[in-house]
Amino acid sequence: MAPPQKPAPDELAALRERYRRERERRVRPDGPRQYVGTDAEFGFYAADPYVGEPAEREPLHDTVDVAVVGGGFGGILAGARLRQQGVRRVRVIDKGGDFGGTWYWNRYPGVHCDIESHVYLPMLDETGYVPEWKYSPGEEIRSHAVRIARKSGLYADALFSTTVTALTWEEASRTWIVATDRGDEFRATYVITATGTLTEPKLPGIPGIEDFKGHTFHTSRWDYAYTGGTPEGGLTGLADKRVGVVGTGATGVQVIPVLAEDAKHVYVFQRTPSTVDVRANRRTTAGDVGADREGWARERRENFLRIVSGEAFDEDLVADGWTSSAALLEKLLPSFRRPPGDRKEFEAAYEAADAAKMNEVRARVERTVTDPATADKLKPWYRYACKRPTFSDTYYPAFNRSNVTLVDTADTHGIERVTEDGVVVGGTVYELDCLIFATGFSVGVSGVHSGRLPVHGRGGEQLLDVWARHGVRTLHGFTSNGFPNLIQMGSLQNASSVNYTHILDEQAVHAAALVAAAEAKGALIEPSREAEDAWIAALAQDAPDHEWFHAECTPGYYNREGRGRPNGPIAYPHGAVAFHELLRRWREESMDEVLA
Ligand code: NDP
Repeated sequence: MAPPQKPAPDELAALRERYRRERERRVRPDGPRQYVGTDAEFGFYAADPYVGEPAEREPLHDTVDVAVVGGGFGGILAGARLRQQGVRRVRVIDKGGDFGGTWYWNRYPGVHCDIESHVYLPMLDETGYVPEWKYSPGEEIRSHAVRIARKSGLYADALFSTTVTALTWEEASRTWIVATDRGDEFRATYVITATGTLTEPKLPGIPGIEDFKGHTFHTSRWDYAYTGGTPEGGLTGLADKRVGVVGTGATGVQVIPVLAEDAKHVYVFQRTPSTVDVRANRRTTAGDVGADREGWARERRENFLRIVSGEAFDEDLVADGWTSSAALLEKLLPSFRRPPGDRKEFEAAYEAADAAKMNEVRARVERTVTDPATADKLKPWYRYACKRPTFSDTYYPAFNRSNVTLVDTADTHGIERVTEDGVVVGGTVYELDCLIFATGFSVGVSGVHSGRLPVHGRGGEQLLDVWARHGVRTLHGFTSNGFPNLIQMGSLQNASSVNYTHILDEQAVHAAALVAAAEAKGALIEPSREAEDAWIAALAQDAPDHEWFHAECTPGYYNREGRGRPNGPIAYPHGAVAFHELLRRWREESMDEVLA
């Protein structure tokens, strides 16, 4: 098929106007306050459906070398890299009943990773595992998380179904006291926090949501006891059920086609349509990815990161929707702030390429969905980078089935009301047996930065109090003055990219190197205030201005539900490739500056 034509200037002006109108239609006055958390009366939405009641155990009062808060890929990789450095007692603590983090919780039918598995799954070189699919199903990813944890001996000391409630530095013993909701109070010489970002499921604060008498759950806590089947499908329990799904983001797009196969009827309550691009998932062999060569996975991962970071590259090894659209995500990249040549020309070319991409997505809807009214509702009207792109070859065809109804809720800013029997949109009552929320996760409410996990450093000072007084203060995002031997993983004052496991692995390598160096020297890890100042100045120097872009975007968690400001933490402005290089050099030349 011929590539879509670049739009003419008058078409661009019309698109701009259409995007503005669609944004106006969607912005809600309550912004981020429209959501409710899954605690208190809604706590059952967040309960662990995979282990039931956790087994009783005695509280722990022992001492370990390193406590790692969080057993997702961040915590697992930290543990694995610490082991490689010869650290013996590493205790990973997680709220879930096993390792896996997001892949522990998200087991909904159709769950896959939409980043290529050969670059997403970490430590492939080290474990010898070669993924079976270009895009792995969730279970393959969860098994790989378990594989790394097993191989690294992390089960021996791990604590599951346990939430860390406080971290307190004890000067006399030069250790951290780790308190948990299971009554533990043990000591650790070092603490690494790897608590993730999108971890707490959220619900729309729809009036009457608590009145629904049918069955209801969030996609990140799938109730297979009710639906039957597995993540592969076969949801026989839904054969006679009318199922409503709220949400059409990356999760909704994956789950809806599988539900459509088995449920009596599926009502999809859509507020903003996603961009749904070609998936082309397929089985892969070791030969396809050159897995017989040493270091093949590292090379492929680096290649992907270079491309999506806007760096120069010779060959596109992954060659998929992420790499082909990397230039459209360039608002996030340094080149967008310092375009080669004339800025106006650069922005005009960017807008035209964006419009061509979005025209292509809208044309895909038109080609696939037979009912023109349904097709019309499925077309996204915003710029490509406003929302997280999604990928599926089964999503649009699902709307051609007679048992699937698309209910557009944009005019009423989402579902108006939930009743005992169903939901109300535009005055119409949709009677349901089951209501499933694919409504995503609260941003910034987990871990250290939300205040839910208080961290008391030297003199009992709380990390968030210090940051409230002086602003966020770290060196490279990892360490802070006054909080010795505490290493934070995450993208705050660090780096980020779509292939987040790659980022986490670089962070894990760095954290383990810090611990090993401190052990070798018998020193504490703690940056000086001057080192923090220098890092903050480096971040500020080229800080990107994304505000203008987000201000024109349709609402979502990327822009605080239309508030215009980007929702991400302040990260290293020159991208992840440059940041990793900076860290490597710093470890070789300057690491002693934090060891006292
Ligand atoms: P999102 O926050 O992306 O989507 C939530 C959905 O719920 C949106 O469609 C939203 O509409 C809709 N919604 C919210 N409130 C209402 C309401 N009152 N009425 C109707 N609809 C409503 O959550 P997801 O779980 O889909 O994705 C979260 C993130 O998880 C992704 O962005 C991605 O980072 C990650 N993910 C990654 C995957 C992968 O393969 N790597 C797979 C799945 C998720 P609106 O857009 O209008 O706000």
